[in-house]
Amino acid sequence: MEQQTAGDLLRRAGLRSTTQRRAVLAALQGHPHSTAAEIEARAGIGRGSASGLSRQGLYNVLEDLTRAELIRCIEPAGSPARYELRVGDNHHHLVCRVCGRIEDVDCTVGRAPCLDPVESKGFTVDEAEITWWGVCADCRGSA
Ligand SMILES: [Zn+2]
Ligand SMILES: [Zn+2]
Ligand SMILES: [Zn+2]
Repeated sequence: MEQQTAGDLLRRAGLRSTTQRRAVLAALQGHPHSTAAEIEARAGIGRGSASGLSRQGLYNVLEDLTRAELIRCIEPAGSPARYELRVGDNHHHLVCRVCGRIEDVDCTVGRAPCLDPVESKGFTVDEAEITWWGVCADCRGSA
């Protein structure tokens, strides 16, 4: 992502365009489903770096960007939170039980909730979180 584009995205979302926020957006470009540690390593942020963003500072940036819906956070069971730039399409995920690989799967409906519960029990339902678990082709091949 161009720095310019990241800055535009931030401003359009009503967020101040800071170096750290732009660095986090850039670090996610081409690397969907990254953990905070991966983002930290890729963006060259963290202790001792020029930007001086602490791990807590990184989490604050991730929280701000997630709340502004510029990035999406998914938390597959047994995995640290993962972040991606693909937002607003209600896509779902395939997760490999062996290596943890995560693949995007389009939602046939494209907006939440794409699946209605049999009974809503009085809830106003706004999302169905769908994750398919299995074994990816690579892991199946090496088994
Ligand atoms: Zn696998
Ligand atoms: Zn995804
Ligand atoms: Zn769906």
